[in-house]
Amino acid sequence: MAKIVIIGNSAAGNSCLQSLINGQGNNEITVISQEELLSYRRDQLLDYISGKAEEKDLFFCAEDFYSRNNITIQKNNPLIRLDIKKQRLVLKDNSKINYDYLVIASGQRLELPDLPGKTKDGVFGLYNLKEAKEIKQRLTISQSVCLVGEAMACLDMALIIAAKDKEVKVISGPQPQGFVASDKAEWIAGLSVAEIIGEGSELKALKLNNGKALAASLIVFCGNYTPNSDFLKETGINLGQGYIIVDDNMRTNLENIFACGSVCNKEGNITKEKSWEQAAQEGSMVAGVLNGLIERGKIPCQQTS
Ligand SMILES: Cc1cc2nc3c(=O)[nH]c(=O)nc-3n(C[C@H](O)[C@H](O)[C@H](O)COP(=O)(O)OP(=O)(O)OC[C@H]3O[C@@H](n4cnc5c(N)ncnc54)[C@H](O)[C@@H]3O)c2cc1C
Repeated sequence: MAKIVIIGNSAAGNSCLQSLINGQGNNEITVISQEELLSYRRDQLLDYISGKAEEKDLFFCAEDFYSRNNITIQKNNPLIRLDIKKQRLVLKDNSKINYDYLVIASGQRLELPDLPGKTKDGVFGLYNLKEAKEIKQRLTISQSVCLVGEAMACLDMALIIAAKDKEVKVISGPQPQGFVASDKAEWIAGLSVAEIIGEGSELKALKLNNGKALAASLIVFCGNYTPNSDFLKETGINLGQGYIIVDDNMRTNLENIFACGSVCNKEGNITKEKSWEQAAQEGSMVAGVLNGLIERGKIPCQQTS
C-alpha cells in the first residue's frame, strides 16, 4: 500500500484520483485542495455566467464520493511548503502529511496587475467559481463593462456581455475575428490600463495609458494565467518559466513526484494553456504510471535526515 497525495482537485487532480480508484490498488490517498468547493467544471464558467449552465451543473462529484472511496480530502487548506527529504507536506493549518508519491495538479491562477485602484468594488479576475458568481451577480446591475487581458479570453466574455445588451469595451491585443464592433461594443488594441478610478471603494472608470477615461461599473481581467508552483521554490524540482518540467511519463526530475495539467510542461515545450480534456488525460496518465510502479512493489523509502 502506498501513500499518495494529490495537490489540486480540478481537471488533472480529479482525473488522477478517479483513475487511481478505478485501478483498484489498495492505496492511502489524500487530496489537498485550496478551494472550499468540491470539483467543478472550470471550463464551463462562461456558460454559467451566460446562463447556459446552472451552478449545480458544474459539479461532477457527489458530496459523499470521497468518503465512499476512502479518500481523505482537505478543503480550503492549501499546501504551503514541501519538505523533499522527509517526503512531507505542510498545509495552511500547519498540519503535516507524509507521502510516498506526490502528484502536483495545482493548475494556474489569475493575478490582478498591480494597478492603483485595483481593490475597488467591481474589479475582478476570472479564474474560479467564486469569482464567476460575483461577476454574474454584478452583471445584473452593471450597464458598462470593461474587459482587460488576453484577446481570446476577453472575446468569449465580450460576446456574453454583448448578448445581454450591455456596453462592453475590451482593452487587449489585436481585435480577433468574431468580435463585432457596434455603438455598444468597442475593441481597444495596443493600449494598457494606467489606473482604476472611483470615490472610496466605488468604481467609476478606468484610465488608459493615453490619458483617456472609460466609464465602468464592472471591470474583469481575463486570461494571462500564472502557474501555481511557488511552493516548489528551493525544493530542487525543475521549473521552466514557473511551469513544472516533466518527462513523457509526467514525472518531475524527482523520482516520486509527478505533475499533470496546466501547472506543468514538457522540457522545451512551454504551452501556457491546456484544455480541460488535456489536463484530465494527463491526470489519468499519472495514475496509470503510479499503478504500474506500485504493482511492481516500487514504493520509495522515506529519508529521515
Ligand atoms: C474562465 C475559463 C474558461 C475556460 N474555458 C475553457 C473551455 O471552454 N474549454 C477548455 O478546454 N478549457 C477551458 N478552460 C481551461 C480549463 O479550465 C483548464 O484547462 C483546466 O481547468 C486545467 O485544469 P488543472 O487541473 O490543470 O488546473 P486548475 O483547473 O487550475 O486546478 C488547479 C486546482 O489546484 C488548486 N491549488 C492551487 N494551488 C494549490 C495549493 N498550494 N494547495 C492545494 N490546492 C492548490 C487550485 O485552487 C485549483 O482548484 C477555461 C479556464 C478558465 C479560467
